[in-house]
Amino acid sequence: MATVIDEKIISLDEVVRNDFPILHQQVNAHPLVYLDNAATTQKPQCVIDAISQYYSQYNANVHRGVHALSEKATTAYEQSRETVRQFINAEKREEIVFVRGVTEAINLIASGYGQLCEPGDEIIITGMEHHANIVPWQILLSRLGINIRVVPVLDNGELDLVTYAETLNENTRLVAVVHVSNAIGTINPVKKMIQMAHQQGIPVLVDGAQAAPHMPIDVQDLDCDYYTFSGHKVYGPTGIGVLYGKYDRLENLPVYQSGGEMIAEVTFEKTTFLAPPYRFEAGTPNIAGVIGLSAALNYIQNVGFDRIQQHEQLLLTEATQALSKVPGLRIIGTAHEKAAVISFVLDDVHAHDIGTILDQHGVAVRAGHHCAMPLINRFNVPATARASFAMYNSLTDIERLVEALLEVRRIFA
Ligand code: PMP
Repeated sequence: MATVIDEKIISLDEVVRNDFPILHQQVNAHPLVYLDNAATTQKPQCVIDAISQYYSQYNANVHRGVHALSEKATTAYEQSRETVRQFINAEKREEIVFVRGVTEAINLIASGYGQLCEPGDEIIITGMEHHANIVPWQILLSRLGINIRVVPVLDNGELDLVTYAETLNENTRLVAVVHVSNAIGTINPVKKMIQMAHQQGIPVLVDGAQAAPHMPIDVQDLDCDYYTFSGHKVYGPTGIGVLYGKYDRLENLPVYQSGGEMIAEVTFEKTTFLAPPYRFEAGTPNIAGVIGLSAALNYIQNVGFDRIQQHEQLLLTEATQALSKVPGLRIIGTAHEKAAVISFVLDDVHAHDIGTILDQHGVAVRAGHHCAMPLINRFNVPATARASFAMYNSLTDIERLVEALLEVRRIFA
C-alpha cells in the first residue's frame, strides 16, 4: 500500500519498519531479511515497552490483591480482554478466554469434547490442518472410539467442498478447520463452511493462527462457535493466545485445567466453578503476555487492516511472479485466495539446504513440513521451503530472496 506523505509515495514497510528494532541488524554479514513470519512475527517497540512497563511499574497478581499494584494489573488485564473482544468483534468480553496459544485452545476444546462425545461420534478436520488441530483429536479417537473424518485438499491447495458437504452428517459433533493454511497460504471459505455445518446444527471451531495477522476477523459475521489465535503471530509475545467461544458454548463446555482462580467455592467434598471465561483460566495467568498482546492488537489497529492487506497482497503477487521466474522452482499451493505465504521446492535441492544457504545470505525462511506433515505428503514432496510475509516486508526483501535462490541453484548446478 502506498501512502502519500509530503508528495512522496511511501510504502507501508517504510512506515512501520522503524517500529521493529530487531529488523535493523546484520545476519551473516547481510542486512536481515525476515521471511519466517508464519512461524512467528517480530515485535514492535510498543509491545516490548508494554511488557517492560508492567514488570518495572505494576507487576502484581491479578484478581486477588486489594492493593494498588494488583488493582492496576487487574485493570490492565481486563482491559486487554476488551481490546481482544473489539479486535475480533465478539459480542461479549466474557467470550474471550486467555490461553497459551492455539495449541492450548484446541487442547482445551478437545478435552471438553472428550467428555461430551460418545463412541461413534465424528469430528471433521481437513487435510491442511496444522498438527495442533490433528493430534488432540487423535488422542480422543484412541480413548473414546470417536472417528476423525478428513476433508481432502485439491491439487491447487483448496479444500474439496463437495466432499465436505457429504462428510457432514448426524454423527458429526464438531468441525475443526484452519482459516488460513500456515504451510501453503490457502484462505479457506470458513464462513460458507460454517453455514453448511450450522444447517445441520453442527458447531465449528476455526484455527485462526494465520488469519489474525493478515485480515480483519469478525466472529459474529463468521458465526463461528469457537475461534482461536496466538499472540506471537500477531506481533505480540509468545505464550499467550486467545480462545473465543460463544457464551452459551463456553457455559456448556466441561472445564479444562483446574485449581486456583477458576473456582467459586471449594470444600473437600465439592467445588463450584466461576462463570466463563474465568473457569477456563486456572492458576496465575500470563499477565505480561496479555498486556503485550493487547499492545500488539492496538498497534495493528492503528496501522489498519486495509493498509496491511493491500501491502501484503502486493508482496504476494510480486513474490509469486518473481519466484515463478526462478528456473526449477515450483510453488506448492496455488489457491485463488491466499495469504502472503509461499511454499516452494527448487529442483531436487532439499528444503533444508535451501534454508541454510538463504540464511548465509541473511534471508530467514522456514524449511520442512511446517507442522503439517499430512499436507506436505499430499503434495508428494519431502519438505518445502516457505517464505511468509508481514507488514514490514518490502519489495527489496523479495529481490534479496530471489538473488539468494539463484545462488542456491549455482551451488547445486
Ligand atoms: N495452527 C496454525 C495454522 C499454525 O500456524 C500454528 C503455529 N505455527 C498453530 C496452529 C499452533 O500455534 P501455537 O504454536 O502458537 O500454539
